[in-house]
Amino acid sequence: MRPRPILAALPALLAIAGCHRERSPTATRERSNVLLVTIDTLRADHLGCYGHAEAATPTLDALAARGVRFATAIAHVPLTGPSHASILTGRTPLGHGFRDNGGYVIPADVKTAAEDFHEAGYRTAAFVSGFPLDRRFGFDRGFEVYDDHLPKGNDPRRTPYVERLADATTDAALRWLQTLAAAGVPASFFLWVHYYDPHAPYEPPPALAERFRAAPYDGEIAFVDSQLARLLRGLEEKGALARTLVLVTADHGEALGEHGEDTHGLFVYDATLKVPWIMAGPGLPTGRVAATVARGIDVLPTLLDYAGLAPGPGAEGRSLRPAAEGREMSDAPAYAESLYPEREFGWAPLHAWRTERFKLIAAPRPELYDLAADAEEKVNRVSELPERAAELRRPLERARSRTAPSAAATVDPETAERLGALGYVGGGHAQPVSAGARRDPKDGVRLLPRINRGMSAARADPPLAIRELSAVLAEDPGLLAARRTRAVAYAASGRHDLAVADLRRLEKDGQLTAEDAIVLGDNLRFSDRLAEAADVLQRAARDNPKFPQPWLSLAEVHIKERKNGEAAADYRRVLALVPDHIEALRGLGDLALLEGRLDEATARYGKILEVDPGDAGAMTKAGVLRMRTGRGDDAIALFRRAVEREPGNGEALLYLAGALAAGGRSAEALPFFERALAAGPRSSMALNGLALTRLALGDRTGAAAAFRESLKLDPRQPDVARTLKEITANRTPGP
Ligand SMILES: [Zn+2]
Repeated sequence: MRPRPILAALPALLAIAGCHRERSPTATRERSNVLLVTIDTLRADHLGCYGHAEAATPTLDALAARGVRFATAIAHVPLTGPSHASILTGRTPLGHGFRDNGGYVIPADVKTAAEDFHEAGYRTAAFVSGFPLDRRFGFDRGFEVYDDHLPKGNDPRRTPYVERLADATTDAALRWLQTLAAAGVPASFFLWVHYYDPHAPYEPPPALAERFRAAPYDGEIAFVDSQLARLLRGLEEKGALARTLVLVTADHGEALGEHGEDTHGLFVYDATLKVPWIMAGPGLPTGRVAATVARGIDVLPTLLDYAGLAPGPGAEGRSLRPAAEGREMSDAPAYAESLYPEREFGWAPLHAWRTERFKLIAAPRPELYDLAADAEEKVNRVSELPERAAELRRPLERARSRTAPSAAATVDPETAERLGALGYVGGGHAQPVSAGARRDPKDGVRLLPRINRGMSAARADPPLAIRELSAVLAEDPGLLAARRTRAVAYAASGRHDLAVADLRRLEKDGQLTAEDAIVLGDNLRFSDRLAEAADVLQRAARDNPKFPQPWLSLAEVHIKERKNGEAAADYRRVLALVPDHIEALRGLGDLALLEGRLDEATARYGKILEVDPGDAGAMTKAGVLRMRTGRGDDAIALFRRAVEREPGNGEALLYLAGALAAGGRSAEALPFFERALAAGPRSSMALNGLALTRLALGDRTGAAAAFRESLKLDPRQPDVARTLKEITANRTPGP
């Protein structure tokens, strides 16, 4: 049979698969796929293949063994957003202008990896796991699929919608690969998967938590390694692994106590800049360790080189293919910076120039390290080697003055306005308005333990957080991060007026970020200052047109004002920004359920479960809808699944208990009532359910106790009071 009919059918197939671009099927079939994996907060020296004996990283070690590992790879910024911007654009922060987490958008005229691959006819998809990579910061450009769904989570100590665990991210990426395979079109893909787990707090899943009790950070890394194994296995099962170039790197490391820093962001030492770089795939040598120093900006040129594509005009990095193939390459210095100390703490920003041998850090008190003799950067040689310091300072200053204007010009108007409000002039180029002497982060670092204690306790132990943060604010009132975190702690302890005061102070100083505005709006809502809340949130929505959160918070204000129609309109605005935004779908589902529009509610929760089949909240509500239509057994099955997924989900536990009790299965219901109450909240409804179930099982004493607690919570329950009286009256009198 001749291949002609198949070729004739190709345009139709391509159209079905959503490829509207003209492309040569032969060329795409022969090209390798590209899989870029970035593992957040991953120090190179905590992997087995980089010499960490206690590591459990067999997948990464095997990848290095069948490919190439760069012994030294350097990130440009110890922060997720800016560092990923460098990886994805091939430019340093000076070139792409994205200088800190939040408040920046990758400028429209800075080309990204996804755009390069998309234009070349690749299918493009990204699955990210941390808030700093939300699509509103511009990381989605060029991706046909950009999956940044972050679950709400049910851990009160953690900020919701911040992190997705590696197993859920892997599931989503595997589903996309499945869709691609099912489409049957032989197009190459560029897939970016980002894992967030090693980021603090270090809480590996139970099995690994036990094994890594003394080193939970390593446990998180081990978990990611196991999920990467699943991802690679998925590729292998589809026959795609052999023609996929895999590159694994990280956005930054983790200080783990070095230089007085526990996590990352403040300093530009190698503890947080040294990352792994491992790649393997078709055409790559096996088991090679390359000595050339790799940089974040080299990732994109290297991937493009292996794909046979030319790098764009603005790329500052270079392809490391020669080094990977064993050829000698000259040393290319790395620019590094952190504006975090300035933007979060009001201290001096840091800029560095790192050659293979030396690193100069420009700070109020400059530092020079001889990395060959002093890899841990403990001995500052700046006064001992002044010529060497000057030799590094010159290119550093040249780089900063040369590239800054273009970065400023490329920041979009929205970002420029935000930066103006933050006290920066000229867009992406940081220039503090107050020119006074700024604290050297080396001197400020002694405040860091208290700041960190305060920050990690903000939700879990608000009184402790308020104590610690108030103490550091007394010493350094310009500590923006301490003030905004204290507001969160005040909010968590129900002192909404004090939270509002801290946030209004930030607003007065021109330091209220979009995220702060949400916290301010929420606290005003909790204080029943609804008009003020709406005002703040409407302004935040207007100033940040790509940010859905103000609309979500505004919807809650409107619900409290009993303006359900307006709340629904808010949720629809979110869907206009992010078509399958889970919380907007949930909001619309809840409103529909409340107003008895069961078909719409069913559709909304169904859509959530399509996006995230593990969403326990949507499963629970889908169960409630089954109950409403008399399908009790289906409902119980859904509630059970929700409870399996989230054993501490009080709502799911209570519905399961209630559904079992309603079906006369009291003995089965009892433990779920108890668990629902333990998970909280201890509502009178849950207590009454428990009491009636105990009564049905003949436990009159237990029933009376639960009814009593219920009446304490809500004394206006005449039926409960009467039942309690009857139980106690019928009791056998005591001695
Ligand atoms: Zn990061």
